[in-house]
Amino acid sequence: MFDVYLEEKAFEKASAHFKDHASRRLEALGFLVGGVYSFEGRQYVMVEDYVTAENDATAVTVRFSREAFKDLSKTLSDGVVIVGWCHSHPGYGCFLSSTDVRTQKVFFPEDFHIAVVCDPLKGEWKAFKLSKAEPEGNEENYREVSFAVVREK
Ligand SMILES: [Zn+2]
Repeated sequence: MFDVYLEEKAFEKASAHFKDHASRRLEALGFLVGGVYSFEGRQYVMVEDYVTAENDATAVTVRFSREAFKDLSKTLSDGVVIVGWCHSHPGYGCFLSSTDVRTQKVFFPEDFHIAVVCDPLKGEWKAFKLSKAEPEGNEENYREVSFAVVREK
C-alpha cells in the first residue's frame, strides 16, 4: 500500500503544465485535489485532479498568489478537498527547499497534506510530508512518502 495515489489524469495534467513552464525555464505549481481515506487503520490520499491557479513564477521560485486561493475556492465543487500541492524543480531534482517547507507549514498544516515535487527535465517525481518527529525550527523536517500513479477504474 502507498501513502499517496495519483490518478493518471491528474499526473498527466501536472506533467504537461510543468513541461510547458520548463520550456520557458520556469517553475510551475498547482493544487492537488481529491480525498483522504483510510484502509485497515492506515491513512492514504487519493489525488483526483491537479488544479492550476495563477502562477507567480521565476526560474527558481514559484509561490501562490493570494488571488490564487480565492480563484480556486470558486472552481472546487463541494466535497472536494485540497490534499496538497505539486510544483516543479526544472533540472535540479526533487526535494523541499526551506521555502517549500515554510509553504507547507503555512498552507498545508494537516496530517494528510502532501507536497509533490517534479523535475520535468529528469522525469523525477517525489511526494513529501512534514515530519513531526524533528525538533521545532528545523527547516529540513520533511520526509518522503510513497506514491503511485493509478489509472481510473
Ligand atoms: Zn520547491
